[in-house]
Amino acid sequence: MLLKTIHVKCVVCGEVNEFKDVASVSANGFYDLDMRPPAQKRDAIIYEVQVCKKCFYVNNSIDELIDKRVFEIIKSEKYLTIAKKDINTAAKGYLLLGEIFKYSDIEVSGWNYLKAAWVFDDLRQYDEAVDARKQAIGYFKQLLGGLEGGRREQAKAVVVDLLRRTGDFENAIKLANELLEETKDKKAFVIAAMKTQILLSKDEDDGCCNMEDVDEILETGQELERAGK
Ligand SMILES: [Zn+2]
Repeated sequence: MLLKTIHVKCVVCGEVNEFKDVASVSANGFYDLDMRPPAQKRDAIIYEVQVCKKCFYVNNSIDELIDKRVFEIIKSEKYLTIAKKDINTAAKGYLLLGEIFKYSDIEVSGWNYLKAAWVFDDLRQYDEAVDARKQAIGYFKQLLGGLEGGRREQAKAVVVDLLRRTGDFENAIKLANELLEETKDKKAFVIAAMKTQILLSKDEDDGCCNMEDVDEILETGQELERAGK
């Protein structure tokens, strides 16, 4: 992964910040069941959010204003509490983006909390990862009622993974079964992913799983079933 140094002027306070930016990445490989991308794209996530060191405004690029509400939001007690936490900067950036977008676009908010969870996963800060995933679950669940077709299917599949990764195996199984009912005659990989989620949840396995693992897990599951276990 090729990195370059960039200087970005904060659109809110005018401070010029120095960041590392990704010049190019490859994305070959398998996605995780929560849509986390593979290979270099996976590692690039920490460079795809910028926090202003002076006013704590956050965006994927802080020279762009998300909307006028941010002037108020970034001064709120909740925002500043997160901004002043002693945690990884990228994780903090995504938590703050989640906070900004919850007023305007809960889908974007949910994805940003999930990205914060991915950063915490890599840092092995699992309690923080679970907290971020729980926030994401809240926003994605609110969203489900209003989505249709492929986007609903994708959001629901992600919630199943979020539930399992936070140890809520019972609801993960329930939602996976619900999605299987809805997705008859639909995408084969969604069906395979949901069957895998059910097997993992029955095992109370809350670990990371990608699409490459799915075939292997399903095969093992079928063998166990045949053996009557
Ligand atoms: Zn600023």
